[in-house]
Amino acid sequence: MPSKIPVELPSGYVEFFSDLESWQNEQQIKLQAVMQLEKAEEPMRKIAKHRRPMIMITGLEVDPALYRQLLADLLDFLVEQRPDIKTNLEELQHKLPDFDYPLLVARLLEQDMEYFGDLAGALNISPELLIFILDHALRPYLRVYAAPYQAELFENTYHHWDLPTICPVCGSKSHFSRLRAEDGRRFMFCDRCFTEWETRYLECVHCGNDEPGKINYIAVENDASNQLYICDKCRGYLKTYDERPTGMPTDLFVANIQTIYLDMLAEQKGYRNHNGHGSDQ
Ligand SMILES: [Zn+2]
Ligand SMILES: [Zn+2]
Repeated sequence: MPSKIPVELPSGYVEFFSDLESWQNEQQIKLQAVMQLEKAEEPMRKIAKHRRPMIMITGLEVDPALYRQLLADLLDFLVEQRPDIKTNLEELQHKLPDFDYPLLVARLLEQDMEYFGDLAGALNISPELLIFILDHALRPYLRVYAAPYQAELFENTYHHWDLPTICPVCGSKSHFSRLRAEDGRRFMFCDRCFTEWETRYLECVHCGNDEPGKINYIAVENDASNQLYICDKCRGYLKTYDERPTGMPTDLFVANIQTIYLDMLAEQKGYRNHNGHGSDQ
């Protein structure tokens, strides 16, 4: 029996993320013109050998002045979009001259949440907000970095990469996949760098369980496309956009936001996405 949608999203919520994505797309195009990146050879072989995402193997060079400018622009965008947290945002604007930008970038790539917890404490703002802002300003860089690797790491990734929930390019944890219209093959999606990589269709991405009957899916009424795959072995869940009912692709970044109700539904039913450090959405 399909479940009912348990919650309505606050008005403007999806629009905010959609606008944020557009802003990031614009920044990405600008960065593309100025960033000189050398693509490493044989990325699939390298990630398999080191068992680490590409960005941790090659490193990422970010011009501190450029990142600071991007952060300033993002704060302006947020002040306009989110007047409710204007005070916090303005405090961060005043702190912009004081940050150690190379250190911030390094800690973001390592996803060192403890470091940002301490920094947020010192700045007297919430760690979630601080990480959200610093990380969203870095995402256009991650997307420029990731683009040249995406075609090579797209299909059959699971033969070389045994960490299906971890982005093989930027190392971020993914909570979203799609099933391709033409053949139903499953691709994980990274909302940080926009990389997609193939995983096995019927295997729990969290624990590798592939026992028949132990992986099921839940859909909500009147929505055949957005599904929840649940594993009865580890109690993990994965949100999935199935392209087959409509035959159409979708904006996976926005789809992940639009389906927050599926996260809530999963949690109500006692499933988890095994997120190590809390979602940064
Ligand atoms: Zn990524
Ligand atoms: Zn599992």
